[in-house]
Amino acid sequence: MLLIQRLVLEQVVEHCVRSVPHEACGALLGYGAEDGGGQPPVIISAVAITNRAERPEHTFRFDEREWLALLNETERSGLRLAGIYHSHPDSPPFPSVKDRSSVWSGLPSYWIISLAGDAPKIEVYRLSPEKDRHSGTLTAVPYSIL
Ligand SMILES: [Zn+2]
Repeated sequence: MLLIQRLVLEQVVEHCVRSVPHEACGALLGYGAEDGGGQPPVIISAVAITNRAERPEHTFRFDEREWLALLNETERSGLRLAGIYHSHPDSPPFPSVKDRSSVWSGLPSYWIISLAGDAPKIEVYRLSPEKDRHSGTLTAVPYSIL
């Protein structure tokens, strides 16, 4: 179970809506133990990252400089990377083949925001930890809005 603050989720959806027809992408930051700890992770901020994909209508690729800067800052701030998100402007919130190959096993959560329907649809996944990044299975995980 993941927890996310309502305002943060609203910011994410807003970023995705604003980016249509391109896919939007970014990182989610938070605190709390991911495995074994008593506290479920809480996501308290979202950071938009520029999509540098060659065809941003169909896929996403983080701007490398922004991504590295974010990782550095996260470490310094005492928060941790709680997940990444991207949007599907006109398809359901299911991971594409490319999405599957881009998830890594240490990533706590992988959020897909679909804008294909009347209202945004959000699904969260994570890679089974025992698998390596190219053969792992993405499993839907529940989340709760604070
Ligand atoms: Zn995707």
